[in-house]
Amino acid sequence: MRIVLLGAPGCGKGTQAKLMAGKYRVPQISSGELLRQAVSEKTELGKRVESIMASGELVSDDIVTDAVTERLRSNESKRGFVLDGFPRTIPQAQQLDTRLGWMNRPLQLALYFSLDPAVVVKRTLGRLECAKCGASYNRYFSPPAKRGICEHCGSKELVQRPDDRQHAVRARLDAYEQDTAPLITYFRAQHKLRTVEGEGDIQDIFKRICEIVDTEIRPLETKVIAIETGRESRSDALTLISGGKVVRKDTGADNDKAVGQVKRRLVAGDSQKPAGKKATKKKVVKKKAVQKKVAKKKVVKKKAARKKAAKKKVVKKKS
Ligand code: AMP
Repeated sequence: MRIVLLGAPGCGKGTQAKLMAGKYRVPQISSGELLRQAVSEKTELGKRVESIMASGELVSDDIVTDAVTERLRSNESKRGFVLDGFPRTIPQAQQLDTRLGWMNRPLQLALYFSLDPAVVVKRTLGRLECAKCGASYNRYFSPPAKRGICEHCGSKELVQRPDDRQHAVRARLDAYEQDTAPLITYFRAQHKLRTVEGEGDIQDIFKRICEIVDTEIRPLETKVIAIETGRESRSDALTLISGGKVVRKDTGADNDKAVGQVKRRLVAGDSQKPAGKKATKKKVVKKKAVQKKVAKKKVVKKKAARKKAAKKKVVKKKS
């Protein structure tokens, strides 16, 4: 599953990306998180982007594209990914398409979260994060039960991100309108854009997303019996797929390849048995035929020998 989430800051992409990552077992790759981590670890990258981020402006395309690509190439992204906050400009989207093209793993969907701009502002300005465990709250929509105290870890450090302050929020919304909103047209032109109503209960929104994902990306998998153990060999998976029951082994690219191979074989009208098994069966039949032939020859030889012996006896008796 290879998806990007689009939408204004505060539209709920991050929250939904986490839920999607949990359900579909793919990593959530958040460009904002990657950069914030670099800032908090004081890496070279962090030092370069810290002040830009605090102002609410966008980091340069090259820097962020390289950081995200590194994650896309990692092992954990083999099964797919949910990209959150990237791409944010047309050049980033073009770079993403190019790099995924090199990896032969094109993007499948762009989910756009539509939301009333007034709600967007309130969501961003009201956002609070626990400095200890990362749990998120919103002053207006989802405050913690006890004011100023994290419900998850009890910490009293509920903080506002520097770029969620008034002046930075304005800059981020401007950057969104100017640089990111054109991506809606970009992905629509590729027929990859799907719109999700971003207002309402978190679980309701998640349900809408899953409906889209399950019908658009995983049509094959609606017939799927997921094998959770992952112990079956690949040829077993092929047998089951070609035998009518479609089995998805969650092995990412390998699985896509396997499903593709079986589909091609079925389209070509090949026998539904995997090549390996077919060859083995042929060998067994051949072996049996040879054994039969040898046994027959032995019987004929024995009979001839017995006949000869009987004839000799008769000659001896007569003489
Ligand atoms: P976010 O958490 O996605 O709102 O991102 C926080 C900040 O990180 C943004 O305001 C930008 O300064 C920077 N940032 C994150 N993603 C990108 C991106 N794709 N392109 C440029 N800057 C980004």
